[in-house]
Amino acid sequence: MANTSPQVPITVAYGDGIGPEIMQATLDIIQAAGANLAIEVIEIGEKVYLSGNTAGIAPEAWESLRRTKVFLKAPITTPQGGGFKSLNVTTRKMLGLYANIRPCVSYNPFVATKHPIMDVVIVRENEEDLYAGIEHQQTPEVIQCLKLITRPGSEKIVRYAFEYARQYGRKKVTCFTKDNIMKQTDGLFHKVFDEIGEEYPDLEKEHWIVDIGAAKLADTPENFDVIVMPNLYGDILSDVAAQITGSVGLAGSANIGAEVSMFEAIHGSAPRRAGQNLANPSGLLLGAVQMLVHIGQGDIAEKVHNAWLATLESGVHTYDIFQEGVSKQKVGTKEFAQAVIAHLGKVPAQLKAVSYAKAHETIRVTLKPAVPVKMETVGVDVFLYCDDRNAQKFGERLEKIQNADFHLYMVTNRGVKVYPGGMSETFCTDHWRARFKSDNHVSYQQIINLLQQVHDADFQIIKTENLCRFDGVDVFSAGQGA
Ligand code: NAD
Repeated sequence: MANTSPQVPITVAYGDGIGPEIMQATLDIIQAAGANLAIEVIEIGEKVYLSGNTAGIAPEAWESLRRTKVFLKAPITTPQGGGFKSLNVTTRKMLGLYANIRPCVSYNPFVATKHPIMDVVIVRENEEDLYAGIEHQQTPEVIQCLKLITRPGSEKIVRYAFEYARQYGRKKVTCFTKDNIMKQTDGLFHKVFDEIGEEYPDLEKEHWIVDIGAAKLADTPENFDVIVMPNLYGDILSDVAAQITGSVGLAGSANIGAEVSMFEAIHGSAPRRAGQNLANPSGLLLGAVQMLVHIGQGDIAEKVHNAWLATLESGVHTYDIFQEGVSKQKVGTKEFAQAVIAHLGKVPAQLKAVSYAKAHETIRVTLKPAVPVKMETVGVDVFLYCDDRNAQKFGERLEKIQNADFHLYMVTNRGVKVYPGGMSETFCTDHWRARFKSDNHVSYQQIINLLQQVHDADFQIIKTENLCRFDGVDVFSAGQGA
């Protein structure tokens, strides 16, 4: 088949479980359509993990990824336990794949769905939030996971969402956060959304608290267009969104970085379906379509996508979307791929045909220059372990520490003020926070002096957090009930 596009090197991993079957089907289809690719194959996943590599990826595989900068990846199986780190999370973070783009579209009436009109793109922040993976057990009863939201991380993903909306002719960008509770972290994400949104007057903008936003998405997805959100909400809600289109097996996923990008299906390796020529290759195929657009072979992407839509219309379906009365033929992975190949050059009659004719430029995101801030430290939260749950006694003991620079402002347990003036009903664990405040800026030496006194008074310090004031504004949360 004639193709004027230059050959583009890509790295391919066949993955585990159903991975090899759906990858073969995907490559067969895109190559039959004329994709011009120089493929390097790498081994990742279960075999690599079980050979003793806890990351699931060998150094030569990294080299290939950093050389080609384009990764088409089948799902892999992460072995349970044994300290195995998720390869997906590692790849996304090591290669800076900050934007996870998950289009979720319903194909009514050809795929059964409760939501016949649905065409939502989830833009999920892909590197931060609770996925920083920084967890510590601090006391016998309490474990902590750090939720990190950064200004550059938020700026990158929010700007990507707006640029994506413009480039793909979308009308509205919605942001989901939980900033009524997480006022600092999710508050920053929301603030950045509002700030950057001002630069896109052509697009409608809205923000929902994630709980009611999720409920609305599951109930009336036709009211949404592009939705941008922090990592955890995006992870959960993109599966929900994909599933309510009819099947999680239908959605592709692009992980975009400034240098390298990775394309995959949303779903996992479905080990129980492996090796039986059963799996639906559509999710990975649509991931490959996103890849073709990304590498400048939008004409091939369009041809593949429209042939796939026409195949769905023809009623040739894999088991997961087969429905009596609608589907005409239940086929396996290979036969489905053959059917898509047979439809190359056709466009759907009823479903909306796609067009990638306007060669989509790679979205490049630049950060606003950092604005210098005046940073002051005005106190310290000292986290303490104590097995005795008497808050009044605990507070009074702390009160005895005499330090001219600080005063004990409050003691909390799981964020709730328990001293002074706590309530006997408040449940206490063995994990306490003593907030010491100062009327002036304090040095770290002054904090160390205070910590020495706390230590000398026989308290068991777990960790500390400085209380900061940026440009005269306190940037730490208040205690509940304080
Ligand atoms: P899964 O997505 O693999 O499978 C869930 C169920 O969905 C399957 O049992 C099957 O009924 C159905 N299904 C999924 N994909 C399908 C397809 N293409 N065609 C037909 N039916 C399909 O989720 P799981 O069972 O929770 O996870 C299995 C493994 O996959 C785990 O080891 C997990 O760590 C891994 N996983 C990998 C990725 C990835 O590599 N991107 C993502 C998620 C899960």
